[in-house]
Amino acid sequence: MKFRNFKMVDYVVYGRGCFDQVDDILAPQRKGDAPIVFLLDHYFENSEALKSRIPLRGNDALIIANVEHEPKTSYVDEIAQSLKDKYGTVSGVIGIGGGSTMDLAKAVSIMMTNPGKAQDYQGWDLVKYPSVYKAGIPTLSGTGAEVSRTTVLTGPTRKLGMNSDFTPFNQIVLDPALIKDAPKNQRFYTGMDCFIHCVESLKGTFINEFSRSYGEKAQALCEEIYLHKDEWNDESDEQLMMASYAGGMSIAYSQVGVAHAVSYGLSYLLGTKHGLGNCIVFNHLQEYYPEGVETFHKMVKKNDIYIPEGICKGLTDEQFDVMINVSLGMAPLWENALGKDWQQQMTREKLRALYEKL
Ligand code: NAD
Ligand code: ZN
Repeated sequence: MKFRNFKMVDYVVYGRGCFDQVDDILAPQRKGDAPIVFLLDHYFENSEALKSRIPLRGNDALIIANVEHEPKTSYVDEIAQSLKDKYGTVSGVIGIGGGSTMDLAKAVSIMMTNPGKAQDYQGWDLVKYPSVYKAGIPTLSGTGAEVSRTTVLTGPTRKLGMNSDFTPFNQIVLDPALIKDAPKNQRFYTGMDCFIHCVESLKGTFINEFSRSYGEKAQALCEEIYLHKDEWNDESDEQLMMASYAGGMSIAYSQVGVAHAVSYGLSYLLGTKHGLGNCIVFNHLQEYYPEGVETFHKMVKKNDIYIPEGICKGLTDEQFDVMINVSLGMAPLWENALGKDWQQQMTREKLRALYEKL
């Protein structure tokens, strides 16, 4: 048996207001005139309160990341090329935003030092050279993108991450004050990504004590904030931020499962966003995760959240086939969820019936 030897984030700073330490943290990373590039989630484009605190020095650049759609390889190439044209090289790339902006920052930093196109690196361990310095600063919590060794990208032929030892951030800045104003629905969808990571990790066949100890803690934190508390407060932001971190650590050594495998199909065909797509699917997974789904239903009710239904109505056979192909392509997720004989259990017909329910 070969055990995974995984690369983690190098440095972590946690605490309310720690964003103000970013200038000091970056100082040793500055190399001559090469700028630091801040990729800022477009949600904050007009937020002077946050923008004025970004420590721009010398010829540093602030780029507004358009994350209306989840990141595409072509967008990564466009940003990396424009930085190369303008500066030659950069001292670092800092992503400030949700999972999409953090993934974009990881991918751009990799493309600053690796030849070709971003799509060439979608897969496992294809990245050849270390990226430039990169840091992630979440403004939404739940995806675990801040700790993961992947950056999920939609390319011309597939939706797949750049999974590599060169992908994790060199630094993450976990400041719970930055997630404070996220709208209720968005906060729920992204938070449920974390809850679903935990259920899929804990109920999966790949589970081990490493993943369990992080997953149980993260799941308990999610239940505390979405189920047992009457009001959202500062402590909820702190708990959600740490749940996201621990949930990410849990799947680092196990795997996600049915909701993610099915939701990837929705996202590929319909552009459904990751957190929302997971909620739409998980809502119907009683057969696979009975307790987790029951708790999920309670959390939806308590937080008065709308989960869309009927999103696959009217799709053609060809469109169902596209989703089924994408989903069945995620072999490790199915194997984690259902075991080695998953192909006997999850037939195309069964998966089609599941998509038709959504
Ligand atoms: P997101 O980054 O896609 O952002 C969703 C929306 O919220 C965007 O419109 C964004 O502008 C806005 N937003 C960001 N911060 C906000 C704030 N504080 N207040 C209000 N709005 C804010 O959402 P997400 O759920 O954090 O991330 C999903 C993305 O993460 C997907 O692209 C998915 O593929 C990726 N992902 C990556 C990993 C990984 O390990 N790398 C894991 C899971 C998901
Ligand atoms: Zn997820």
